[in-house]
Amino acid sequence: MGRLLGWDRIHSQTTMELRGTKALVVGLKKSGMASAELLAQEGAEVRATDLKPLDELPGAAELLARLNVPFDRQMPEVFEGCDLIVLSPDVPADLPPIEAARRNGTRVIGEVELAAPFLRGRTIGITGSNGKTTTTSLVGHILREAGVPVQVGGNIGTPVTAMIAGSRADGWNVLELSSFQLETISEFRAHIAVALNVTQNHLDRHHTFEAYAAAKGRLFETQRSGDFAVLNADDPVCVGFAARTAAAPQWFSSRRKVSPGASLCGDKLVLDGKLLMTAGEIPIRGRHNVENVLAASIAAARAGVTHERIAAAVGTFRAVEHRLEFVRKVSGIDFYNDSKATSVDATLKALDAFAGNLWVILGGKDKGLDYAPLRAPLGAKARAVLLIGAAAPKIRQALEGAAPFVDAHTLEAAIAHAYRAGRPGDTVLLAPACASFDQFKSFEHRGEVFKQIVNQLTPKD
Ligand code: ADP
Repeated sequence: MGRLLGWDRIHSQTTMELRGTKALVVGLKKSGMASAELLAQEGAEVRATDLKPLDELPGAAELLARLNVPFDRQMPEVFEGCDLIVLSPDVPADLPPIEAARRNGTRVIGEVELAAPFLRGRTIGITGSNGKTTTTSLVGHILREAGVPVQVGGNIGTPVTAMIAGSRADGWNVLELSSFQLETISEFRAHIAVALNVTQNHLDRHHTFEAYAAAKGRLFETQRSGDFAVLNADDPVCVGFAARTAAAPQWFSSRRKVSPGASLCGDKLVLDGKLLMTAGEIPIRGRHNVENVLAASIAAARAGVTHERIAAAVGTFRAVEHRLEFVRKVSGIDFYNDSKATSVDATLKALDAFAGNLWVILGGKDKGLDYAPLRAPLGAKARAVLLIGAAAPKIRQALEGAAPFVDAHTLEAAIAHAYRAGRPGDTVLLAPACASFDQFKSFEHRGEVFKQIVNQLTPKD
């Protein structure tokens, strides 16, 4: 495959010399801890810091003790006197003491950049504002089903540094990459890079849309000739990445025919001019998921997987947990968990994926979003809206009259009401358009509770 595609069989990224390097790891969550471990292993003189005290950082004290890495609470002085600073994704790269260190010649990188030279095999990097986790899992699934050695990680879970041990020269590393992980890369290179879409997000950290888009664009700037850049032809920012890469652009579109790459034409997915499958054969719902399938299919094809194997694997893919996840049919009523729909936009996508007969559960912690765009699709498709959580009054006020409203307050009452009143052929959809923190620990927790309650429902007779 390597010869066929013109890539070196062995990885050729510059190996960073870490022995004796004075390194500081900033932020001690999963990726920071994995960075500290790699640095220590490679013989660097490592220190670690965090805004929180050590006893509030699960697992950190044990790890640092084992590695013999000293810890200091984060204050400006800790950034002084190091050769290398490794930032966790949630640490802003433009903090004044970090800027100062950079001016003094300190190299400032993220965990992905640190890991890159050590990772064996080839890499598929996937970024975008929405759909990263789904597409990353899907690419992993297709490669795995096709018998290609593959491991999946990055933002989706396993830190890239923790993937080094399991990486192999003949395998692929499929990485979900956020803008925060990409903004500091310079040597990290994806043989196949994917940009799904770039919409307003994380402006608190990147300050401007341009800076956010530029961070994502770094993924394409470090590619080389012979690599592939898989880009959304309908997204102007993604289109712009084509001019910033040495890789060959590959396009996908769910609206029109594009080449080279993959398109949705009517209900047919066409890849490299050949029928791949029909949209009806895709088990995950919604046009956005067709786009994810198009992008994933190009990536898999460029990694050497045939049309037949791609189509077969897509057919057995199950939604990632909490993302329009089918939970159960009971008494003819379908239950879907889209707890990850924490914004109005995501809820719109979820509503778009169904023809109608919906019982829609909305509410939670308000994020200051405008709910008005939900009015038309709810009017057209909802039998009723079941309101939960703190945002309920605001949502009711914004959408009054769009559909019947039920003040359910809790998830349990909302499910019970919809199940009691629902008829065979109806769908109960949790796509709340709000954060979860008023009643739950996280969107994952909210989704778990939803599934637990749904799984306890007894058939009506
Ligand atoms: P991410 O990891 O980027 O947050 P996910 O795969 O977890 O993305 O999907 C999160 C939500 O984003 C989904 O529930 C859906 O509402 C929306 N989404 C998924 N894929 C796309 C896409 N290709 N375009 C637009 N929105 C999408």
